[in-house]
Amino acid sequence: MTVLPDSVLPDGHGGRLRIDLGAIAANWRALSERASGAECAAVVKANAYGLGMERVAPALHAAGARSFFVAHLAEGVALRAVLGPDAAIHVLNGIPPGTAARFDAHALLPVLNSLNQVAEWSALADALGRTLPAALQFDTGMSRFGLSPADADTLEREPWRLERVSVILAMSHLGCADTPDHPANTQQRAAFEGLRARFAFPRWSLAASSGIFLQSAFHYDLVRPGAALYGVPPSAARPNPMRPVIRLEGRVVQCREIPAGAWVGYGATHVAARDSLIATVAVGYADGFLRAGSGRGAAVLPGWPGELPIIGRISMDCLAVDATGVDPALLPEGAALELIGPTRRLEDAAEAAGTIGYEMLTALGARYGRTYEGQGS
Ligand SMILES: *Cc1c(COP(=O)(O)O)cnc(C)c1O
Repeated sequence: MTVLPDSVLPDGHGGRLRIDLGAIAANWRALSERASGAECAAVVKANAYGLGMERVAPALHAAGARSFFVAHLAEGVALRAVLGPDAAIHVLNGIPPGTAARFDAHALLPVLNSLNQVAEWSALADALGRTLPAALQFDTGMSRFGLSPADADTLEREPWRLERVSVILAMSHLGCADTPDHPANTQQRAAFEGLRARFAFPRWSLAASSGIFLQSAFHYDLVRPGAALYGVPPSAARPNPMRPVIRLEGRVVQCREIPAGAWVGYGATHVAARDSLIATVAVGYADGFLRAGSGRGAAVLPGWPGELPIIGRISMDCLAVDATGVDPALLPEGAALELIGPTRRLEDAAEAAGTIGYEMLTALGARYGRTYEGQGS
């Protein structure tokens, strides 16, 4: 057998997911550099985009990040327990009704998205007899989160609504920043400038990952990257400047030779055009290797030139690749095939499944054997 020991996956999992914390830290530093002048926060919602908030957030903190964003209150509570007191933790979805006291108990900053949420936070401040800090979001065009233009008018007319709230950050979110010449970018920035002229909040934030790669006029006081930290390309139009963060390998369960005319997988959607060597790999759609990628995409056998195409339907626990031409000795049971990594990049795998890196990452799930490497300081 000619296989290197490291290429065989010995443990009881269908695949191995290696997460490079050093690459995440390097990506944070690169984004921080690119947005120099602005503070670089870190978005770790959805379990750090599926990569494990408990490991990822401390690595970002060690790299220098001090402002963090999650989506939900429960994520904020969990992050506070991971990071301790030395971090500002913002909760993007704001205050669910009746939960304001929990934000205060865990020193979380709600991102207030409506006048109701402003009132809820103010009522708690009144009850406690002190001012409470918060971020305040404005909708500048996405029609998703934040105060509407009419709400902003109300707030300007009735400043008493914020008497008990110390707005430490005013923010909005860009909807089309991955397309640098999309007209919505300039429109949203103009709306944001309009707000800056009307309200005297101390700090402003507009850019997430993609916005960092627009002109520096989009950077303001704080940038909020998520996806780019994890290696997702920030711009659809340009080469990916971020370091790859994950390496996903699937374990070969078995290999078989089939004659021309034999078929592979559910629905018999693949029929072999010639005598073929088929490898069954123990990663399926329950591992976030989406069924929509059936018959598309590929795996890589380290040291073998060319890719092994994924054929037939992806099942819950496995997929099949066409390894015709490969010496079967290179594909023993347990052999590791790269599904995502330096050769088969996240964006390639995502595109084959008809989706984007964001969804691919957050879909990966808990079934892989995970290892974390490259932890800096
Ligand atoms: C998710 C999110 C981010 C991070 O976006 P990326 O595109 O992943 O960098 C920033 N701000 C808001 C409001 C978000 O919802």
